[in-house]
Amino acid sequence: MFSNPIKPARGSFGLRLNLWYSAAFIATACGIFLLAYFLLASAIQQKDRELLQARLEEYRAWYEGGGINILKAKFLNDPTSARNAFFVRVVSPFNQVLFLNVPETWQGFDQRKIEVVAPSQAQPWLTLSGDTSRQTWLIATAPLRGGLLLQVGKNTEQTEALLNQFRLIFGFSMAGVVVLGFIGGALFTGRALRPIRDLISAVRNIIDTGNMSARVPSRTPSRDELDELVSLFNRMIEKNEGLIRGMREALDNVAHDLRTPMTRLRAEIEVALQSGNPETMRAALAENMEESERVLTMLKALMDISEAETGTMRLELSEVEVGSLIRQVHELYEIIAEEKGIQLTVSNLPATLTVKADRTRIQQCLANLVDNAIKYTSKGGKVDITAAPTSDGGVSLRVQDTGMGIPAEEMPRIWDRLYRGDKSRHEKGLGLGLSLVRAIVQAHHGQTEVRSQVGQGSEFVIILPA
Ligand code: ADP
Repeated sequence: MFSNPIKPARGSFGLRLNLWYSAAFIATACGIFLLAYFLLASAIQQKDRELLQARLEEYRAWYEGGGINILKAKFLNDPTSARNAFFVRVVSPFNQVLFLNVPETWQGFDQRKIEVVAPSQAQPWLTLSGDTSRQTWLIATAPLRGGLLLQVGKNTEQTEALLNQFRLIFGFSMAGVVVLGFIGGALFTGRALRPIRDLISAVRNIIDTGNMSARVPSRTPSRDELDELVSLFNRMIEKNEGLIRGMREALDNVAHDLRTPMTRLRAEIEVALQSGNPETMRAALAENMEESERVLTMLKALMDISEAETGTMRLELSEVEVGSLIRQVHELYEIIAEEKGIQLTVSNLPATLTVKADRTRIQQCLANLVDNAIKYTSKGGKVDITAAPTSDGGVSLRVQDTGMGIPAEEMPRIWDRLYRGDKSRHEKGLGLGLSLVRAIVQAHHGQTEVRSQVGQGSEFVIILPA
């Protein structure tokens, strides 16, 4: 049956999931690091600028208070030894340098880079770099009274070194994050995909061996959609297993039940052939035709019962008007009852009574009950059909007769397949009518009931749920 084995998939969803997870993790970590770096860098640079701005304001105040000479004097005598820390330059509107201080330690500082810029074009902030990437300076520029220009500069080597260090840490951390991302991703996807892998191996096992008893290990209580998928899959397999078991049993039963009539058929043919008498052969052929007709009917009934019992019977459910269904069965059996001298009635039918059911199948059930009632009631008797709503919104269909009744010891067996009551054997029948009724009613999730008293009559009830 499973001639085409399914090859294992070559692409790995797990690997892809791992890559997505790792990429998302690494990108997020990278984003956080970059943000932290830029915030830190701008905070440090802001500090440098604030320092220079403060100096600029101080020197401008000195100049505004006493001119260039006071500025020079105060600056050179500054107890904080600013001359070793700050670059200061004052230029006239004609680019003539009125005051200049370049700290002695500033190796590689080339002030010509500032001089080429005309005072009018000077920008408020200027960054200069030396010969090596570590040498950097920040220059702040502000106008002074009389068209002069004041420039104050500061070495930002330390700031750059700090940021360099931070970049280094960032680089190393990122390498760690990448490794962590991949390992974490592999662990995470491994765990997340375990139910899928279990599912695949269970399905593969079922396909390869045909053994429906395999189940996927499930976690209880369900934690996520995968757990739900696993438990649904297990339930589906359970249901399929039950159906297959039921169908096998049904097939065995049908084969077993047909064996007796088929053997009888064969025996009759054998006897007729051995007799060599044309008359006997003709009689045997006629008998055989009738018998095979019975076998066909029996086969159909057995198949119906099996289908209904195993849940494979297709029920065409619709809203059935119970009154019209009963009247139709009444019409069908009216003449047969009349011929037998039995009074067939329909009583106490509610005006509107409906139930969701397979109309044809329920009609078949009711017809079987009425057929039995007429069959097992003698001339002058009564058969009554009625229906009523049940307390839980369903419907009960009742067939009552004044016939021979059923002995108590036979009661438990009347629903069995091929069972026929002792006193019923003179009547035509296969012993399948009641089994079919019960199987169909159960397929509708309903119930059947019987009450009977020998010599008084019987009452059969079909109860269909809402
Ligand atoms: P069949 O009627 O073909 O024998 P059923 O399955 O319909 O098979 O019924 C099984 C047995 O139940 C019958 O043989 C008969 O003994 C008993 N039975 C069913 N219906 C009635 C009834 N209305 N009155 C008396 N006996 C009944």
